[in-house]
Amino acid sequence: MTDSRPTGPLPAISELALDRLTEWFTARGEPAYRARQVAAGVAAGRAAGFDDLTDVPRALRAALASAFRFSSIGETQVLTTDGALTEKALHQLADGQRIESVLMRYPARRAAPPRTTICISSQAGCAVGCPFCATGQGGFGRHLTTAEIVDQVLWWKRARAYALDPSRHLNIVFMGMGEPLHNVDRVFDAVWALNDPARAGIGARHITISTSGVVPAMDRMTDELPQVNLAISLHAAHDDLRDELVPINRKWPVAAVIGAGRRFAERTHRRVSLEYVMIAGVNDAPVEAERLAAVAHGWPCHVNLIPLNPTPAAPWQGTARGDIDRFAAILRRSGVATTVRDTRGRSIEAACGQLHAQIARRRRPAPDADLALAPA
Ligand code: SAH
Ligand code: SF4
Repeated sequence: MTDSRPTGPLPAISELALDRLTEWFTARGEPAYRARQVAAGVAAGRAAGFDDLTDVPRALRAALASAFRFSSIGETQVLTTDGALTEKALHQLADGQRIESVLMRYPARRAAPPRTTICISSQAGCAVGCPFCATGQGGFGRHLTTAEIVDQVLWWKRARAYALDPSRHLNIVFMGMGEPLHNVDRVFDAVWALNDPARAGIGARHITISTSGVVPAMDRMTDELPQVNLAISLHAAHDDLRDELVPINRKWPVAAVIGAGRRFAERTHRRVSLEYVMIAGVNDAPVEAERLAAVAHGWPCHVNLIPLNPTPAAPWQGTARGDIDRFAAILRRSGVATTVRDTRGRSIEAACGQLHAQIARRRRPAPDADLALAPA
């Protein structure tokens, strides 16, 4: 007799939108409110498994455990830096793929409350292939599922509940591994789930999608997620250079990407962020600042300058701080709002994909002064 049971791992509970979860309960003769109760219990980050959802009857907890995985995130290692203010997790997925997420804590500043930012991945690897990026250097693995995206956030909530108390503002940025707008359906579903007050309840204005410039999906974002922040990874303001640094530019050149950014800003009345990784001797000359000013001027955007975090596979170095300040001054003189990303957390934030690359090559992590490997 053949075994007709499905093979492979059970679906993760975060994969189900609330209406699907409601159907699952009602099909079992359970009241619909159970879906909301279980989804909220999973997303709250206090339970480590279905059995900890003690307001759900025991038999139902057992039924849930035999139908779903509590989390799609498997074994996880954590690296700490910046005196434990920044932590980076390397998560293993059910099929052995590895992805990264980063948690950064920012203390209260003047009137601003303390903040926590979680940087999450949308794909294992990335097909865009930016030569300065560790993820791009490793090539494409696969798209993440909705659950794998959402569960990175829930993993941190469970593991570091103290950092995610309600008095801290929580921000989510899609700046980990992968091009989120190449995995647009699952990323948008994950945004809805993270935003849902019945689940993680993270305000859309606290969620940022960063893209290398997938123009049709940027337009979809304008229509479907107008409250979510848009960051464009520009890195060069003219096509000859951007074709090399962000190869997707050969498909959607600078003018098309800026056009999509402007449409987003016009429709949503919100400012777009233009990310610009500064690579010594490559894109940091004063003339490049003038070109950048020309595309950034006259519409609601601001430029964020990020010193390159060097990767082993590329010969490039980050621009020196003095040269970054001179580049920023040219932009500001042209009326373009410009920030230089603070260095705290920079080494690990900009390094998404690097930890994974090191482990893939079976090498020890780079000897960062205060980098310590800790179990999750
Ligand atoms: N694929 C998306 C989101 C993930 S990358 C995108 O490219 O926008 C998130 C950000 O990290 C991008 O702005 C990217 O250019 C930047 N980044 C990648 N490698 C980096 C490095 N070595 N140093 C500094 N920033 C880097
Ligand atoms: Fe992909 Fe973004 Fe890295 Fe480019 S910078 S390879 S788009 S993850």
